[in-house]
Amino acid sequence: MKNTPPFNPIENRIKTNLLPWFETNQRAMPWRNNRTPYRIWISELMLQQTRVDQVIPYFNRFMKRFPSLKSLAAASQEEVLKQWEGLGYYSRARNLHKAAKIIATDHKGRFPKTAEEMIKLPGIGSYTVAAIGSLAFNLNLAVLDGNVIRVLSRLFAYNTDTRSTVAKKELQQLADDLLIKGDAGNFNEAMMELGATICLPKNPQCEVCPMIPACLGHKSGQPSHYPVKTPKKKVPHIVVGAAVVTNRKGEVLIAQRREKDRLGGLWEFPGGKLEPRETIQQCIARELKEELGINTEIGDFLVTVKHAYSHFTMEMHTYFAKIKSGHPRPIECQNHRWVKISDLRNVPYSKADLKIIAELENL
Ligand code: SF4
Repeated sequence: MKNTPPFNPIENRIKTNLLPWFETNQRAMPWRNNRTPYRIWISELMLQQTRVDQVIPYFNRFMKRFPSLKSLAAASQEEVLKQWEGLGYYSRARNLHKAAKIIATDHKGRFPKTAEEMIKLPGIGSYTVAAIGSLAFNLNLAVLDGNVIRVLSRLFAYNTDTRSTVAKKELQQLADDLLIKGDAGNFNEAMMELGATICLPKNPQCEVCPMIPACLGHKSGQPSHYPVKTPKKKVPHIVVGAAVVTNRKGEVLIAQRREKDRLGGLWEFPGGKLEPRETIQQCIARELKEELGINTEIGDFLVTVKHAYSHFTMEMHTYFAKIKSGHPRPIECQNHRWVKISDLRNVPYSKADLKIIAELENL
């Protein structure tokens, strides 16, 4: 019997259908012009957990302020956080700043070209290495992000829980096997673009999908069944009290969160988590004593701010307060400052604190 060469319809359709589709249908994005390792790195970090339309204005603003790796390395952490303000997951900004300093000193300002060197930098994991490596240096590395996981699970009608470690390994292997050697950047971007624009989480647009002839998920009649995922646990809800402490000059007291804490390096209106059997006012008074060493009188209510983070939801009840005794000193924060309301926006905050600022500006 004549030997037939191995034939993988999915691999075949990636070459004949997906790549040409990507060539003509890819969306315009600022980081797709003038592709330098620096611009690719910043865009990849910003795009983690964040939608493209949200990232574009941040990316453009960031590039204007820090056009080169050198300018980023020379900036203060506060300046970098200010540019990142509102984008969330602030460890990304702190890490990219640390990494820029390392590249400036240890790599003569040039982005390292090998996966082994890249992975040593803060904030760069295997996904980012594959993205930067393939797009900037044409390394044969396949990315596996949420979009690629969804596309692969549907193409192969993959039935294992994609949150499991075994699935991550198997899907990475599938992506590695399908990768078009020598054209890894295009392959990766095409897979991600298909997931972001056609193979959508709830309503896959199979009728216009270039992969339809080979897709087992579509053939199953239930593409949305994939990727298989165990339901997420319900996220906890926390209640927080915060204070707008004012002085006689009409200034407001703000505190900078410690580096090691969540949202480290950002500024905030001091306060903290409500404890059992405490009123919000008692919580605020206790937190101000613990955080800044001041005894306060809690005054009028200002606003309740609600915010959803990835691992919990929060409601923050904010009151005005005045100091009864003591001088603020940083005990459970790394810095504090009295500022005029008109100067509040000079330093970086989380989204929740920005909502309090907006409320103060409207008084
Ligand atoms: S055919 Fe449908 S399910 Fe399959 S990859 Fe395309 S959009 Fe996704």
